[in-house]
Amino acid sequence: MPAPVLEVRGLSKSFKAVKAVRNVSFSIAKGRTFGIVGESGSGKSTTARLVLRLIDPTTGDIRFQGVDLAAMRQEELRRQRRHMQMIFQDPFGSLNGRMTVRETLTEPQLVHGIGAPASRAEVARNLLAEVGLPSSALDRFPHEFSGGQRQRIAIARALATNPELIVADEPVSALDVSVQAQVLNLMRDLQDRHGTTMLFISHDLRVVQFMCDEIAVMYLGEIVEQGPRDRIYGAPAHPYTQALLASAPGKGAGKRARLSGEIPSAHAVPSGCAFRTRCPHAHERCAIEPPVMRQLDDGQQAACHLLDQAVSV
Ligand code: ADP
Ligand code: MG
Repeated sequence: MPAPVLEVRGLSKSFKAVKAVRNVSFSIAKGRTFGIVGESGSGKSTTARLVLRLIDPTTGDIRFQGVDLAAMRQEELRRQRRHMQMIFQDPFGSLNGRMTVRETLTEPQLVHGIGAPASRAEVARNLLAEVGLPSSALDRFPHEFSGGQRQRIAIARALATNPELIVADEPVSALDVSVQAQVLNLMRDLQDRHGTTMLFISHDLRVVQFMCDEIAVMYLGEIVEQGPRDRIYGAPAHPYTQALLASAPGKGAGKRARLSGEIPSAHAVPSGCAFRTRCPHAHERCAIEPPVMRQLDDGQQAACHLLDQAVSV
């Protein structure tokens, strides 16, 4: 099997007293999409920023195409960035309002010394066509476009250096529901065409289900369950995953308990299992002992004491 494009081991990040990301491990094979889902504050964006080393980990390894990013110096890191691009939630914030679309799409090539001026302009035109915008858009500015169109421009920009990895953090969360599907379809098509590997983050279970081959569910900084999409949605093993699925809009009243209560503060993560304060199955042991990740079938894994006792939940 070829080495994964991205391999993260034991990744943690603290901001003073806040443990934003705790001991996160996963890997993504070439051309695959790995999803991270979880409520707001679960550490998804921090994980994304760590993976691209926009921030430094407190502990842990990040291997990108076999190279240790965590140990890399700024200059090396700058060169690597061409191979790893990011798409953010808010295309207004991520695009420079003073740059035309042409400049927006040629700048990443310029920064990384890719191509001659004429070929950069050609790449910009082609990218624009690929994301379904006319070449007349080249001389316009971001504010002249709708939210969906701006996100198309941000996607084109992310592809401008022909990256191996794209990290997309809530890329459709700011868009109207009617536009979300178009943008997601576009991202899937482009990924197929370019063979790009993707880390895809969303709080929305349906979006992650549509996009991802493999999914990690995060709660208060930790991955509590991980596995192939069909296992996560068809046979969720962790009570948190089960509750999230039961709470998803459009699901009707399932047999399983919906998610109740508020997510605890990251300043005061509960002892033992972090989910126990909202878990319908919590018992004594859950307050004392943190559950370890347990291997299930088909590459699925979950961290819950109920699995140790082979009690079906
Ligand atoms: P998500 O993207 O899943 O909503 P985040 O990764 O943004 O979660 O945040 C995880 C936790 O880390 C939250 O409690 C958040 O308040 C905290 N956090 C994130 N960034 C910082 C920062 N720069 N300084 C302090 N706390 C932060
Ligand atoms: Mg976030």
